[in-house]
Amino acid sequence: MKRIWTDLLRLFFPKSCCVCGRRLASEEKEICLECLSYFIRTDDDRHPNETETLFIGKAYIENAYAMYHYDKGEHIQRAIHALKYHGCPRTGYELAHIAASELAQAHSPLCDVDVLVPVPLHPAKKRQRGYNQAEWIARGLAAVWGTPIDTRSLVRTRNNSTQTHLAPNERWENTRGIFRLARPDLAGKHVLLIDDVITTGATLSHCAEILLQEEGTRVSIFALARV
Ligand SMILES: [Zn+2]
Repeated sequence: MKRIWTDLLRLFFPKSCCVCGRRLASEEKEICLECLSYFIRTDDDRHPNETETLFIGKAYIENAYAMYHYDKGEHIQRAIHALKYHGCPRTGYELAHIAASELAQAHSPLCDVDVLVPVPLHPAKKRQRGYNQAEWIARGLAAVWGTPIDTRSLVRTRNNSTQTHLAPNERWENTRGIFRLARPDLAGKHVLLIDDVITTGATLSHCAEILLQEEGTRVSIFALARV
C-alpha cells in the first residue's frame, strides 16, 4: 500500500537526480543508479588504509573510513555540492545509508561505536544553510546501525570562512581552537566523528583533539569522500 502511495506521489511530484537532473525511478533515492556508477570507491574497508594515514601525527584515530574518492568536476563533486550548497540534505542521508549497510555486512568495527558526532557548523552558518549536512549523514548511518547521535556536546565557537582557497598549513591554523566541549557526555565513549569530505584532515583532527582530552574517549572517523 505504502509503495502504491509513493508511486502515486511520484507521478504528480516526480523527484529528480541531484547530480544529473534526470527523473528518478521509484527504487532510486536522490541519485540515479547511472550517476552512482560513476562514483569511485576507496579501498578504506582495509585496515590500515590511506584515510587513516592522513591522521598520523595529528590525532590518535582508531579507524577511519571515506567511502568515495572526491574528484573535482566529476559526479561525486556535484553530489557533494547538492548536499552542501543546493538544499539537498537527503543526498547525504542516502549515501550514508548505503555505506552503513555495507559496513554492517563486512562487520566493520565502525558499526560498534557508542555514539555518532557530526562535525558541528557554527550556529550562524547552520541558520543560513538551514541544516548541518554532517547531521544528515549521521542520520543515514543511525537508521541502519541504531547508534545514538549527539549534536550538543561538541560545538563550534568560531565561524571560520571557507577553507577551499587555503594551503594545508593555513587550514591547520584556521581550524585550531574553533571547537570546544559544551558538556562531558562523551567521556569514556567510542565516538564516530562524521564529516562530508576529508581534505587535509585538519578539521577532523582538531575535533578529535578536543574529544581525546576526555577521560577514556576513543575516536574513529567517517566521511562520504576524501580528496
Ligand atoms: Zn543522475
